[in-house]
Amino acid sequence: MKIGIIGSGPGGYVAAIKAAMLGADVTIIEKHKVGGTCLNYGCIPTKSFLASSNMINEMEKASAFGFTSVTKSVPDFESIINRKREVVAQLGMGINYLLNKQRVKQILGEGYLISDKVVGITDENGNKTEIEFDHVIIATGSQPIFPAFIPRDEKIMASEDLLEIEQIPKSLIIMGGGVIGCEFGQFFNAMGTKVSIIEMEPQLLPFEDADAAAVLEDKFQRSKIEILTSQKVTEVSVLDDCVQVSLESGKTLTAERMLISVGRMPCTKNIGLENIGVKLTNNKICVDERMQTSIEGLYAIGDVVDTPMLAHVATREAIVAVENCFGIDSTEDYSAVPRCVYTNPEVASVGLTEIDATKLGKTVSMGKFPISGLGKAIVAGDAEGFIKVLSDEEEKIVGASIVGAHATELLAELTLAVSARLKISQLAKAIHPHPTLSEGILEAVHDLHKQSIHSF
Ligand SMILES: Cc1cc2nc3c(=O)[nH]c(=O)nc-3n(C[C@H](O)[C@H](O)[C@H](O)COP(=O)(O)OP(=O)(O)OC[C@H]3O[C@@H](n4cnc5c(N)ncnc54)[C@H](O)[C@@H]3O)c2cc1C
Repeated sequence: MKIGIIGSGPGGYVAAIKAAMLGADVTIIEKHKVGGTCLNYGCIPTKSFLASSNMINEMEKASAFGFTSVTKSVPDFESIINRKREVVAQLGMGINYLLNKQRVKQILGEGYLISDKVVGITDENGNKTEIEFDHVIIATGSQPIFPAFIPRDEKIMASEDLLEIEQIPKSLIIMGGGVIGCEFGQFFNAMGTKVSIIEMEPQLLPFEDADAAAVLEDKFQRSKIEILTSQKVTEVSVLDDCVQVSLESGKTLTAERMLISVGRMPCTKNIGLENIGVKLTNNKICVDERMQTSIEGLYAIGDVVDTPMLAHVATREAIVAVENCFGIDSTEDYSAVPRCVYTNPEVASVGLTEIDATKLGKTVSMGKFPISGLGKAIVAGDAEGFIKVLSDEEEKIVGASIVGAHATELLAELTLAVSARLKISQLAKAIHPHPTLSEGILEAVHDLHKQSIHSF
C-alpha cells in the first residue's frame, strides 16, 4: 500500500512511522522542517524557554534548602536561545532517525492535492512532480491568527517570531491570555521584561477551571505581571520606538514589543482542497470519527481538522487515520483529551470542568485536595495549588483539574480514569506511593465522599 502524507508535524510524522510499521510504502512531503510547529515553533522551544526560567526559581530557593553563597542568577539570553536551538535540533535528528529507520521517503516541497490519490509537489526551485498513492493523509497544521486591524510591523510578533528574538525586550504587551500568552508572559517576566497580558474573557486560560486560573493569576500578579482581563483591544498603532495599544475601557498601554496570541487557524489554503471538493467548516477540514474527509479514502489529522489543536491529539489522530487506511476500525471520542499549561505552577486538566458540566446540564460532584497537604510538596518547597476531581451521577470520574508543580505529569492517572470511565471506588482503592504528589489524587478522589484523610 502506498501512503502519502502532506506535513511532518506530530500528526504527519507519527502517521508516517505508524504506516511504515504496518508495512506501507510511505512518502512524507514537508515544505519546511520536520517536526512541524510542535518541534520548531511550539511545544518544544517554549518548554525549553520555561525550563530556563524555572531554573531561576530553583536557584532562588537554594538558600532555603541549605546552600549559601548562591549568587543571584542573571539570564544570559543568547545561551538560553542557543540551548533551545540545540534541544530542537536534537529532537529533529531523532525524528529523522526514526523516519529513516522505517524507510519513510521524505520530500522537501510544497504538497497539494491534484485528486484524492494524486499529490503534486513543488520544490524550492519551482520544479513540479506528481505522485500517486492509495491513500493521502493531510497534516498541514495551523498558523497564528493575526486580526486584520493589527498593523504588520516587526515590533508586533507571532509566537514563532518571539522565539527567535535576539534581545530581551524591556516591555511586552501580550494580546491573548490563553496557554501561549501565559507561557510566554511568564518566561519574559522572568527574563526581566515588563509584561502586560490582555485577555477578553474574565479570566486567564478561559477554557480552564476558574479556581485553577485564579491560582495562576495570583502568581502572575505577585511576579508583577500586569493582568488585564475582560478587556478588549480596539486599536494598535506602531510608534517610532514602541507599540501603542488602546483598550475598549479607554486605557492605553505602550511597550517595546507586542505578542499576538489570540489563536491559530488551520492551513487549508493552496493545498488543492477546492480541486476535489473536500468539505470544510470554518476553514477546517470536516472529518468523521475515523479521520476520513468527505472523500472516501482521503484522511486529515491534527490542527487542520476541527478537534483540539494539540500535539498529542494530532498524534492520536495519526494512529486512527493510518489504522483505518489498513482497514482496522479505529476511532477516538475526545472525552479524555489532556490539556496542559507549562507555567509555574503548571495547570493541567482533562474531561469536564465544573463550568462545562453546568453548560451541558450535567450534575457532577467535586472532590478537592490542596497540594499543601502533601508531604512531598512540603519537602520540595512547592506547595501551591490543588487537585480537583469531578464524578457523575454513576460515580464515574468525568473530569479533573490540577494546578501545582508537576501537574502536567500527575494528570496522566486522571486521564486514564476519565478515558477508561473508572469509578470513584476503583481509583480510591489503588495504593499510591508515599511520599508523592500522586497521593493528592487519592485524597481528592476520597473527598468526593468526604472521606479524605488528610483534609484540614
Ligand atoms: C507556541 C506554541 C506552543 C505550543 N505548545 C504546545 C504544547 O505544549 N502541547 C501541545 O500539545 N501543543 C502545543 N502547541 C500546539 C501544537 O504545536 C500543535 O497542535 C501541533 O503542532 C499540531 O500538529 P500538526 O501535525 O497538526 O501540525 P504542525 O505541527 O503545524 O505541522 C504541520 C506541518 O505541515 C507543513 N506543511 C503545511 N502545509 C504544507 C504543504 N502544503 N506542503 C508540505 N508541508 C506543509 C508545515 O510546514 C508543518 O511542518 C503549541 C503551539 C504553539 C504555536
